[in-house]
Amino acid sequence: MNAAASAFDITVVGGGLAGASLACALADTGLSVALVEAVPFAAEPSVAMQARTTAIAWGTRVLFEQLGLWDGMAEYAAAIEHLHVSQRKHFGVVRVDAAEYKLPALGYVLPHTTMVAALRARLAQLDHVTVIAPARFVGLSHAADRVWLELATDEGERRIATRLLIGADGSNSSVREALGIHARVDDYEQSAVVTTLRTEYPHNATAYERFTPDGPVAVLPRTAASCAAVWTLPTAQAEWACAAPQAEFMDRLQSVFGYRLGRLQLAGPRGTFPLQRVLAETAAGERTVLIGNAGHALHPAAAQGFNLAIRDALVLAALLREHVQSPGFDPGDADLLASWAEARRPDQHRVANFTDAIVRVFSNRIPGLAGARATGMVALALLPAVKHDMARRSMGLAVAPEFKSAPGSRNGQA
Ligand SMILES: Cc1cc2nc3c(=O)[nH]c(=O)nc-3n(C[C@H](O)[C@H](O)[C@H](O)COP(=O)(O)OP(=O)(O)OC[C@H]3O[C@@H](n4cnc5c(N)ncnc54)[C@H](O)[C@@H]3O)c2cc1C
Repeated sequence: MNAAASAFDITVVGGGLAGASLACALADTGLSVALVEAVPFAAEPSVAMQARTTAIAWGTRVLFEQLGLWDGMAEYAAAIEHLHVSQRKHFGVVRVDAAEYKLPALGYVLPHTTMVAALRARLAQLDHVTVIAPARFVGLSHAADRVWLELATDEGERRIATRLLIGADGSNSSVREALGIHARVDDYEQSAVVTTLRTEYPHNATAYERFTPDGPVAVLPRTAASCAAVWTLPTAQAEWACAAPQAEFMDRLQSVFGYRLGRLQLAGPRGTFPLQRVLAETAAGERTVLIGNAGHALHPAAAQGFNLAIRDALVLAALLREHVQSPGFDPGDADLLASWAEARRPDQHRVANFTDAIVRVFSNRIPGLAGARATGMVALALLPAVKHDMARRSMGLAVAPEFKSAPGSRNGQA
């Protein structure tokens, strides 16, 4: 697609995991798509981003396969075959095994940068997408049949028109702000410290999540010989943990996580990410929708943020594909966008509420709650039906939309 073109059927602002997934999913709709990203695609990822991993649910792997993306990721994906959830200093463990669900894995852990690279490599093969990067979305104005976008680029201001605008520009979304869509922000006053560990004992494809009053610590398979750690702490402590001498950091992490995997050793850089829940009050506006963190940014405790985002993206792509041949089709049609928002609302609310409940019930210091937490976990272990339902939902099996795979050919980058 010609990079100098100034009118598109769809413009996705934000080329992170959510926006890039949607742009790939739109491949066989016949619609022209612009992907606007503020950061040059060739820029070196920050140290924090290099340390970050994403746990994807089994259902997300299935969606990646349908998009022709899994082959580019599989080599770097560490399978999670078992899940082990515990609470520091309390009795009660919940175990979930992939075999119970007759699946080879509950999910997979992937380096964030690997996922972004695989998505962008795929975008480069797709004719329908014009990548406009680096370019920052700075404003918009509505006309009757389109939205005009103002972009700040290295060459100066650029205007493009689009019939549908997708805000996929993260939790501080400028698109959301430009539309005047209010977002509820709950600051957990916690940050996640992410890094890579070597373990004395093999992880045996087990993902460990351990709840502490300060926040959960997850130790996840990363490669055959290493694990990823995602350790949530009050923000001041997270800053300390990120900068502390290696031995002090590891002593503290070891005391919180315990010795299930034997002695832990630091095997990579550390990075921190502040954690907030950001919920837009509506996901669809005039000729616009918000997906991913722009619509709902979640705490990583349940590892659901991206898994939810890709379902938003692929349901939208499926809806557009279904209607694209209809006479007078308009991708920005208000009824169409409202039906997408309505279809997605139950999944979004359920996942956002479930994630928030996990953070608040298991990770706060309210006196008297620790006993209730342990009781809750024992109850979970004893109630297979509840555990089963939660596990199915976490694996993305309870919401399993079918999408056509996206054939592609070649494309350039602006
Ligand atoms: C520590 C941590 C661990 C996590 N672990 C998991 C996990 O295990 N599993 C899971 O499912 N989820 C996880 N998540 C959540 C997951 O990472 C996000 O939901 C996912 O990355 C989707 O992000 P996004 O694409 O919506 O937004 P972002 O990743 O924020 O991407 C937004 C993009 O928009 C661009 N942009 C911003 N403003 C503009 C502008 N004005 N113009 C143009 N471009 C712009 C940015 O440069 C960026 O590339 C985790 C989150 C954190 C913080």
